[in-house]
Amino acid sequence: MAGEFDVIVAGGSLTGVSAAIAAARHGAKTLIVERFGFFGGAMTAGLVCSIHNPMPASKGANEQYPIAVEVIERCMDISGLEATWEEVESRQCSDVFLHPEVVKYVLVKMLEEAAVDTLVHTFVVDSIVEHGVVKGIIVENKSGRSALLAKVVIDATADGDVSARAGVPYELRDLRKPYFRNGHQITLKGRWVPGMFCLANGVQLDKTLQYYKNNPAEYDGPLSLAEMEYRLKRDHPFTLSGFNRLLAKAHDAGDLPENFNQVRIYNMGQGMVQISNQPSPNALLEKPVDCLDSDSLTHAEMVYRKWVFEKWAFYKRYIPGFEFSCLMQTPSTISVRESRNIATEKELDPVDIFNSHKHEDSLVCIKNANKAFIYHIVPYHPSVSIEYKTPHFKEGTAGDIYIPYRMIIAREVDNLLVAGRTVAYLIIPGAVVGQAAGTAAGVAVKTGKSVRETDVVRIQDALQEDGMEYVTAVV
Ligand SMILES: Cc1cc2nc3c(=O)[nH]c(=O)nc-3n(C[C@H](O)[C@H](O)[C@H](O)COP(=O)(O)OP(=O)(O)OC[C@H]3O[C@@H](n4cnc5c(N)ncnc54)[C@H](O)[C@@H]3O)c2cc1C
Repeated sequence: MAGEFDVIVAGGSLTGVSAAIAAARHGAKTLIVERFGFFGGAMTAGLVCSIHNPMPASKGANEQYPIAVEVIERCMDISGLEATWEEVESRQCSDVFLHPEVVKYVLVKMLEEAAVDTLVHTFVVDSIVEHGVVKGIIVENKSGRSALLAKVVIDATADGDVSARAGVPYELRDLRKPYFRNGHQITLKGRWVPGMFCLANGVQLDKTLQYYKNNPAEYDGPLSLAEMEYRLKRDHPFTLSGFNRLLAKAHDAGDLPENFNQVRIYNMGQGMVQISNQPSPNALLEKPVDCLDSDSLTHAEMVYRKWVFEKWAFYKRYIPGFEFSCLMQTPSTISVRESRNIATEKELDPVDIFNSHKHEDSLVCIKNANKAFIYHIVPYHPSVSIEYKTPHFKEGTAGDIYIPYRMIIAREVDNLLVAGRTVAYLIIPGAVVGQAAGTAAGVAVKTGKSVRETDVVRIQDALQEDGMEYVTAVV
């Protein structure tokens, strides 16, 4: 494919898809480019299909939901989950678990319905910049190398590939040895470590619950056994953890490395379980993973792939209910948590965050962000990410975080917007910001302005018409 578009979205996660659909719904001829053969990003390629806590709950004006919620609802309608949306909203179900294959299908359908052009199996390898203005991207695929031109480019590659190649400044936090707390890696000071999930089926969870019943000390989670049984009967998601005695037994038998000290399994419903990314095999790596270095990433991918298999093998051998389980799916890729932090016109600072500061150019809002999620949402800000224990956090919540338009405008070049992990971590907040970026791009094209010159009130009005008035990724 070669050609000219109004808007090109690089990267096809929920962020990129939300951006592309929003741009197309606002009349822009839009192309989305993705390196895999399907959309969904970490949610599908990485099997990060259990979305913990962060749920977009409130309807916007006109009773409309963000595109991300349309996606979730359609997945639920098809089969993703037996729980109803009302149950999710009321937090009777704490997490949203979506079947990655259903997500892939729904995203293709929604892109088609919005008449977004798609190009998959295609790597974005460079940006075209003339006199400080982004004019398009260079892609590589089986057809060779080609140039694709656009009035606005949205960088949703998560690593900020387009922005970095366009010369936009970026920051990389130090690579440090991951810091472990209670078996979790929380590398707040260094760059955050990657993870890898996998899916198993054929698990007899009734047997696992019976094991808990006989050995209550083996469960360390918050739910009562009765609640778990209820959820299992209704095919609702829940988390299984603990099994310390079985872990000790496997350690004593030499079947598990010592640093494999945690079990976490998510019941996704429909006979499927997701085996958590934790613990990650960081202790087996000589140095921290640099996800922007192909050698380091390759080495990590090999280590992690062996590790997830061995994790499942331990479950099959030791955990009641897993005897006849099958390792159904490993992800297409290791899931990267952190790489470039792309410089944009505005970075949120603690004052903005803790005062729930609403800027004149605020587009969307991450509601009720609690202390545990601040460093997800604004992962790079030094005082947020390093000073996890500052007095700011003692209140327990930072309230609502407003995302200003300037936060998605790349610095030093024009007509480049940035969305997703490089500016707003977590799947739903990322997608909500993606929708804002797509809407902004659509308005810029419609009004014939550059993204910097576009009247932010027009963007806010457009978002409001779409039911996105300061909407609402609830964390
Ligand atoms: C182990 C782990 C657990 C997590 N748990 C949760 C959780 O419970 N809840 C939650 O909300 N978030 C969670 N996250 C975070 C979440 O996965 C990310 O914040 C989110 O996926 C970021 O979205 P994104 O759109 O920026 O990136 P991604 O989902 O990574 O998507 C980027 C897309 O761009 C494509 N791409 C990249 N580079 C190129 C290129 N050069 N050319 C073409 N295509 C390209 C990729 O293939 C991909 O489709 C977790 C992350 C990890 C690693």
